[in-house]
Amino acid sequence: MKVAKFGGSSLASSEALKKVKEIVEADTERRVIVVSAPGKRFSDDNKVTDLLYICHAHIKYKVKYDDIWNDIASRYIEMDRECGLSGSIEKELEKVRESFSKKTSVDEIVSRGEYLNAKIIAEYLGFDFVDSAEWLHFNADGTVDFDSTYESLRELYTVHKKMVIPGFYGSLPDGRIHTFTRGGSDITGSIAAAALGASMYENWTDVNGILMADPKIVDNPRPIKRVTFAELRDLSYMGAEVLHPEAVFPVREAGIPLYIKNTGDMNSEGTLIQESFPDETFDANSKFITGITGKKHYSIITVTKNRITEDLSFHRRILEIIEGYSLLVEHTFQSADCIAFMISSEQLSGCLYNLVSDIQKKCGADNVDVTEGVSLVALVGRKMAAPSGVSGRILSALGSHRINVRTIEYGSDEINIIIGVADEHFKEAIRVLYDSFAEE
Ligand code: ASP
Repeated sequence: MKVAKFGGSSLASSEALKKVKEIVEADTERRVIVVSAPGKRFSDDNKVTDLLYICHAHIKYKVKYDDIWNDIASRYIEMDRECGLSGSIEKELEKVRESFSKKTSVDEIVSRGEYLNAKIIAEYLGFDFVDSAEWLHFNADGTVDFDSTYESLRELYTVHKKMVIPGFYGSLPDGRIHTFTRGGSDITGSIAAAALGASMYENWTDVNGILMADPKIVDNPRPIKRVTFAELRDLSYMGAEVLHPEAVFPVREAGIPLYIKNTGDMNSEGTLIQESFPDETFDANSKFITGITGKKHYSIITVTKNRITEDLSFHRRILEIIEGYSLLVEHTFQSADCIAFMISSEQLSGCLYNLVSDIQKKCGADNVDVTEGVSLVALVGRKMAAPSGVSGRILSALGSHRINVRTIEYGSDEINIIIGVADEHFKEAIRVLYDSFAEE
C-alpha cells in the first residue's frame, strides 16, 4: 500500500479536490490519505491555517471573530456543495465553533483546519475518517512517541482499510491536541507510511518535484528526478524549501522511498527520494550536480596568532566564546597561524564588536579580522564522489567567469561542495554552475 499526502494548495477548492480524487482512484494502492488544511486558491488568498491563528488571537483577547470564522466556514461549505456531498460538514463546523472558548489552546484551534478538511475528503473519496488525535501520540515534551503511535495506527488499519487522516496534529498524554511546526502534515504522512510499512510515501504538492535551483535565480530550472535522502538533507540545510525537514526521518529509517509529485500534473515525473540508486552508472564527463542552492550574507572572522596549531586548547577556547554569544559556526578554516570562522552576518549584527574584543582579550590573538558580504553556494550531487577532476572543473568554470572563490569546503562524504563567493557574485555563481554541471 501507499500513503499519499496532499498539501494545502492541492486541497484549496472543489476543482483541486476533483484532481485529488482522480489521483487516488488511479491507483488502488493509495489507501491512506493524509491531508493538510485548505491552502491558497490564488496568490493573495489566505490559508485556512493562517485564518485559524487569527481566530485564536481574537478569542484570546475577546474580540469578535465572526467575519473570519464565516470566511473559513464558507470555504468548507462551498467545497462540500460543489463536490455534491451531504452537507454534514455544516454540523461539524457548528460543533467546532461551539467548542472554542478563551481556554481553547492555539494548537487545538489551528488543528481544526486539517480536521474539517479530512472529514470532507473522506466523504468525497468514500474512505473512513480517522482522527489523528486517536493515534499520533506526543510525549509531554512535544516529541513523538513513535512506539505507541505506530502501534495505534497499525491497529486502526486492521479495521479501516482505506482511510483519510488529518495531518499536522496529534494528542499529548493528557489528551490535549498538539501540533507540529508549520507544514507539519508532511511529518504526519511520513510517520503513517513508516508505521504501516508502506511501499511508497507520496507527497503531492503544486510543483513538478524539487527544482534543481531557485527559479528566482535560474530561469526555468529542471526538476530533480532522483535524489538521495542525504543529498536532500544537504539541500534543505542550505536553503532549498520543499518538504518539512523533519519529514525525511521516519520514512528514511523505515527504508521507504518518498516521491514528490504534482497534483496539477499527475503524469509528470516528479522527484524520487531514496537512500541510494544502485542501478546508476557514472562517467567522468557527465554532468554531476543534483541540486544547487545557497545562502547570502555571511561574515568570516579570521583570528591570527603565531603558532596557533601548537596550542591544543585554542579551538576550544574560541568556540566557547562564540557559543557564549549563541552563534552558529557554519564552517571553519585553518592555516599555520590563523583560524577562520564563517558565521551568518545577521546573527553577528548585535554582538560583533563584543565578540571580537572577547576573542582578542581572552585568547591573546595577535589580530582579529572580519570580512563581511560573503555568500555560500552549495553544490550537492552524489555523482561528485565518483569521477576525479570534479572540483577542478567547478573552479575553472567559476574562474573563467571571473568569480573569485573566497572559501571552499569539500564535504567528507563527497556529496557536497560549498563555495564562498562575494555576495555580488552569488546569483552569477549559481547560474554558471547550473548551466555547466546540472544533470539533464
Ligand atoms: N496547515 C498547516 C500549515 O499551514 C500544516 C500543513 O499544511 O502541513 O502549516
